[in-house]
Amino acid sequence: MQSCITAAGVLYFRMKSDLTYPGGVPVYFGAAADYDPAELGPALEQVLDPVLTAAGGVRGRRVMVKPNLLEYKFDGDPAAVHPALLLELCRHLARRGAARIAVIENPGTATAPAVVRRMGIAAELEKLGVEVANCADYQTLEMPETSGFRRLELAAEYRDYDLVIDFAKAKTHAMMTLTLAVKNLFGLVRGSERLGWHLAVGRDFDRFADLLLDIWLAVRPRINLVDAIVCMEGNGPGSGTPVRRGVLAASSDALALDRALTEWFQAGDTPILRRAVRRGLLPEIAVHGAPAPCPPLALPPPPEPELAWGVWLPPRWRDGLRRKLLSRPVADAGRCIGCGRCARLCPPQSLVMKNGRPVFDLPHCIRCYCCQEHCPVGAISVCRAPAMRLVSVLERLLRGSGIAALLRRKPRPRP
Ligand code: SF4
Ligand code: SF4
Repeated sequence: MQSCITAAGVLYFRMKSDLTYPGGVPVYFGAAADYDPAELGPALEQVLDPVLTAAGGVRGRRVMVKPNLLEYKFDGDPAAVHPALLLELCRHLARRGAARIAVIENPGTATAPAVVRRMGIAAELEKLGVEVANCADYQTLEMPETSGFRRLELAAEYRDYDLVIDFAKAKTHAMMTLTLAVKNLFGLVRGSERLGWHLAVGRDFDRFADLLLDIWLAVRPRINLVDAIVCMEGNGPGSGTPVRRGVLAASSDALALDRALTEWFQAGDTPILRRAVRRGLLPEIAVHGAPAPCPPLALPPPPEPELAWGVWLPPRWRDGLRRKLLSRPVADAGRCIGCGRCARLCPPQSLVMKNGRPVFDLPHCIRCYCCQEHCPVGAISVCRAPAMRLVSVLERLLRGSGIAALLRRKPRPRP
């Protein structure tokens, strides 16, 4: 089973990565002021139906929904897609004749059925005949030589369905700046493997972005939906602040959707888009139903010194700067309840509990921010190194002067 999946995985990867969209990949935006079903129904029709139609419709087909169900600590917790929207999405698919609907996810610390019960929609989903399950079956995908990663262990369930809906929440993210449709697929990686990958990519956030892009290329869902009605800003992806933006967005291409939303959020140069440009993957987009400009999201501190992002420096200088200027995790002792989850989930075990409180071994911390993502009370945040502000000002001056443009290699977007 595994070797045939392996060979098929490479083939699938190559076939799907050749798709082109003359005129730009359509991205559909729709407005919904809140999660009232009377608002959600028309918004889903507006943004999702064109994408479903382009994928051949759902009538008589098996549909897997992969929502972001990281966790659900309180009503309206923006760490996950909103329960009312998840329920309405399943109703929408049922109304359009889907033969089978499954909600499959790999949440951080609980199970998918447990998160759905906590959301209060388990009974309604059951009435609709929707299965809710954790990822349970894993496959090894052997990647082509163009990938920097030789093998990926991914949940295999998506192969049993005719269509996969990548259903993400718009949130800030300490490593990737934003988590949208491409990042949501990281949830298909086995939990223990996720820690291993964090350890493998270490502080190289561009490498993590490459890994996410490779997962996206391997799965390439044909339907992608982002809940940006209430987003998360600040200390994301687990403990940020809810902020209303009133938008649903969908596309056949997760990267196109990420591009449209990142531009709309004015989030600047994120690692995923930067690497997509470098790899010639970033598509042109054609936005339909463009919403009015929104106020920028409050982003987490940049994951590494901006000088290392766009301007070439000798590697020794750059690594030295990184060490000195990297943002770092800090714990709020007043909030911490001493549960120890952060220490248990720290991939390099550079965080230990002492006297019931987390203590960071920063020289060995790889800045994966698993501790921040999974702290149940939001006690860990990302703190920007003081000197980094100065470096950022210097970098802006450099960029403005045109010197940076001379040093920077110019990537070309995919036509
Ligand atoms: S996960 Fe959060 S609450 Fe638990 S020990 Fe770590 S910092 Fe404290
Ligand atoms: S201390 Fe936190 S950010 Fe650092 S390696 Fe451990 S989990 Fe990752």
